[in-house]
Amino acid sequence: MLILSLFFLCILISPLHLSGQSKKSVVKSYDSIATQIIRTALGSGKSYELLKELATGVGHRYTGSPAAAQAVKWAKLTMEKLGFDSVWLEPVMVPRWIRKPAQEAYILESKMRPRIPLSVIALGGSIGTDESGVTAAVIEVESFQDLRQMGKIPQRKIVFFNRPMDPSLFSTFDAYRQTVDQRTMGAIEAAKAGGVAVLVRSLTTRIDDHPHTGVMNYLDTIPKLPAAAISTKDAEMLSKLLREEREVKVHLKLSAETLPPVESANVIGELRGTEKPNEVIVVSGHLDSWDVGQGAHDDGAGCVHAIEALRLLKELGLRPRRTIRAVLFMDEEAGLSGAKAYAERDLAAEKHIAAIESDAGGFSPRGFAVGDSVAYNRIFTWMPLFRSIWADRIIVGSSEADIAPLARKGVPPIGLIVDNQRYFDYHHSDNDVIENVNERELALGTACLAIMAYVLAQEGL
Ligand SMILES: [Zn+2]
Repeated sequence: MLILSLFFLCILISPLHLSGQSKKSVVKSYDSIATQIIRTALGSGKSYELLKELATGVGHRYTGSPAAAQAVKWAKLTMEKLGFDSVWLEPVMVPRWIRKPAQEAYILESKMRPRIPLSVIALGGSIGTDESGVTAAVIEVESFQDLRQMGKIPQRKIVFFNRPMDPSLFSTFDAYRQTVDQRTMGAIEAAKAGGVAVLVRSLTTRIDDHPHTGVMNYLDTIPKLPAAAISTKDAEMLSKLLREEREVKVHLKLSAETLPPVESANVIGELRGTEKPNEVIVVSGHLDSWDVGQGAHDDGAGCVHAIEALRLLKELGLRPRRTIRAVLFMDEEAGLSGAKAYAERDLAAEKHIAAIESDAGGFSPRGFAVGDSVAYNRIFTWMPLFRSIWADRIIVGSSEADIAPLARKGVPPIGLIVDNQRYFDYHHSDNDVIENVNERELALGTACLAIMAYVLAQEGL
């Protein structure tokens, strides 16, 4: 999941409860269908099987890479084999950045100790260092304000942003939002202060050896600095050394390149509506991932949630009145080009009732965040359909990046909420692999999407 500063819609509204009668009738009409969907998803669903194909058969699939092209083929073929009414590719030009293998970092030896290797990974979009790398003293800061108060850094230094995610917050996404500026804007702020390179503490609450990458930005008017994430364990160690020794020098070598854009595609498949085929409910995830791990939670889980939701409805013979469309967006992580291209379509000819996205990992679902007041008032009354699996939190807001361009055109965005305590253990790191996805938790997310999409297709908003 890219981040959420891109789009965070929060509308303060009070639920306009429908009359007890109509509320009861919608829930009553779909109660047994919801149970059937949940039991089929858990008992004989294919979510995990599909995710295993994507995660281990294709693996990680960074935007514009040959693996991303392979993922597009896999997704199209999978939807065709499952017999969806139509399956097609929507071409889109995407950026192309590649990480090269040459990557090393260590703390130079001092009188007191030998050289210490550091676990780092270049941030997405970073420039490389030159062949010989950068060797410089490190200066640690927790915020841009700290850095600005120092004025110009005396001697050219590596700026080390070490503000941890706040472990006292219940929502790890809230903790992430409070720290992600270090990664996205750190290189710009460090360059303004006269730094030569950037190290950013990995965005996770866990202390381990796995660095977490993610997108970072440059400004054309400010010198570009090479930037890398450092594992939390090494961040702690480096910070300790900086307190103990007068000066700590680090050597950092990164190799990366930005190439011209290439053509890729959103992969789309649908079950056509029997009564109102031109009214569409989007069920989505993003097909690209970072170039580490297998992109299993981020966002292989969302992709299989979408595909399997349609397959479940088909298996159960539940023909929707309106069209239910699975959209696997390309390029969420590097620039949202797939999402922007999708939203370019003529929304008058093809009325989009709502757009659902799963992009918070394949964990136990807890409910939905709805970013539109009218939609919220309606969907809130469907809450009992999700109660048996403890996924009945219907709240206001939406932060899913791919459906934000549609939301800006008036399509109600609906994000799947999951238990997010472990999400940042894996996010954008080599830990994001199939072994860290639980089969039953993943299947429950699929059930939620299938129920929500089906009720929307039958009832509209
Ligand atoms: Zn994602």
